[in-house]
Amino acid sequence: MSKQGIGTKCVQAGYTPGNGEPRQIPIIQSTTFKYDTSEHMGKLFDLEESGYFYTRLQNPTNDYVAAKIAALEGGTAAMLTSSGQAANFYAVFNIATCGDHVVASSTIYGGTYNLFHVTMRKMGVDFTFVSPDCTEEELNAAFKPNTKAVFGETIANPALTVLDIEKFAKAAHAHGVPLIVDNTFATPVNCRPIQWGADIVTHSTTKYMDGHGAGVGGAIVDSGKFDWMAHADKFPGLTTPDDSYHGVTYAEKFGLGGAFITKCTAQLMRDFGSIQSPQNAFILNLGLESLHVRMPRHCENGLAVAKFLKDHPKISFVIYPGLEGDKYHSLAEKYMPNGTCGVVSFGFKGGRSAAETFMKHLRLGAIETHVADARTCCLHPASATHRQMNDQELVAAGITPDLVRMSCGLEDAADLIADIAQALEKV
Ligand SMILES: *Cc1c(COP(=O)(O)O)cnc(C)c1O
Repeated sequence: MSKQGIGTKCVQAGYTPGNGEPRQIPIIQSTTFKYDTSEHMGKLFDLEESGYFYTRLQNPTNDYVAAKIAALEGGTAAMLTSSGQAANFYAVFNIATCGDHVVASSTIYGGTYNLFHVTMRKMGVDFTFVSPDCTEEELNAAFKPNTKAVFGETIANPALTVLDIEKFAKAAHAHGVPLIVDNTFATPVNCRPIQWGADIVTHSTTKYMDGHGAGVGGAIVDSGKFDWMAHADKFPGLTTPDDSYHGVTYAEKFGLGGAFITKCTAQLMRDFGSIQSPQNAFILNLGLESLHVRMPRHCENGLAVAKFLKDHPKISFVIYPGLEGDKYHSLAEKYMPNGTCGVVSFGFKGGRSAAETFMKHLRLGAIETHVADARTCCLHPASATHRQMNDQELVAAGITPDLVRMSCGLEDAADLIADIAQALEKV
């Protein structure tokens, strides 16, 4: 299976019907599952046998789709969550709890920054944010004795910085902790962070994976490579008995390949219940079936728009890692040789008000809190997703008040450029 191309995996991985079974993934629209004996049920509750018992924890439809995403990323196990937010929260909280510390890139999605900087701090998890451009020395200096993970985004939303995955993985591993990479913008079609040393990969499947603005969702993939037992003192949740499951020790019972996702499902999904609905998992799978066909078109449109804007007299800067001359172009070429994503960020010589005028006059590009949709859309982060940040924090996150984030859809590039040109005339 692993030798197959990414396109074949997009279409077929995760679900193989038997003789006479449905060709398309069945939607198991059932909260619960029936068993013949209480003894069998008891074994499920002790994690002695695998099987479904309640859709707050697991559902077969979700697991088919999660298995596809695991195959796409080259991981050993995966789970779906109700949103990307839930995926990042679970991925971090599965190993970093009260009294622990995490090193994170400063250029991350605004919602993730809020989750870490505000909400998880209230839960007693401490974060140090480092520039993705930091030197190895600066990165190593951010670690503390209680550091449990490192976090970054392959292509940051909306700053569009490219994470030097090898640099971050090297520092994480030197300190005996895993690297968690949010691979939402690149998707496994353009980058597979596990190949470069990432241990855990997360997704907001709401974006390119769904690709049609139809369903909010998230995913967590485990590479199966991080040796929890080799750092047993750092990760007691995985390496010591769990009293809530009759003393099971996840790293022993489920091994490298299964411990992280099993614990995350058995504890966090059980207790927080941020499960994706089987209906949404089905819709997500429809998106995944064409992900490898759609991503090149998103990238083609993104590059065409970036090139057009770069030479426009009213535009002060363009950020697009696929564009030659971009600060992150060489990292993009290394990690994403086939293309980056369809999102382009740019600024206006006329400042914040010019950005707002421009957006108001777009006809194809709608103003939305969304990216990675088949339809082109745009957003002004300083007044939307990042409005909780002060100016200093905005700059650290790579955002200026005049920055517009445009997510190029699957329309014809010529029509997108014509729309942008007419809106720029109004500025
Ligand atoms: C949107 C997004 C998230 C949050 O995902 P939701 O599905 O909206 O909860 C996390 N990370 C990145 C990079 C995103 O773009």
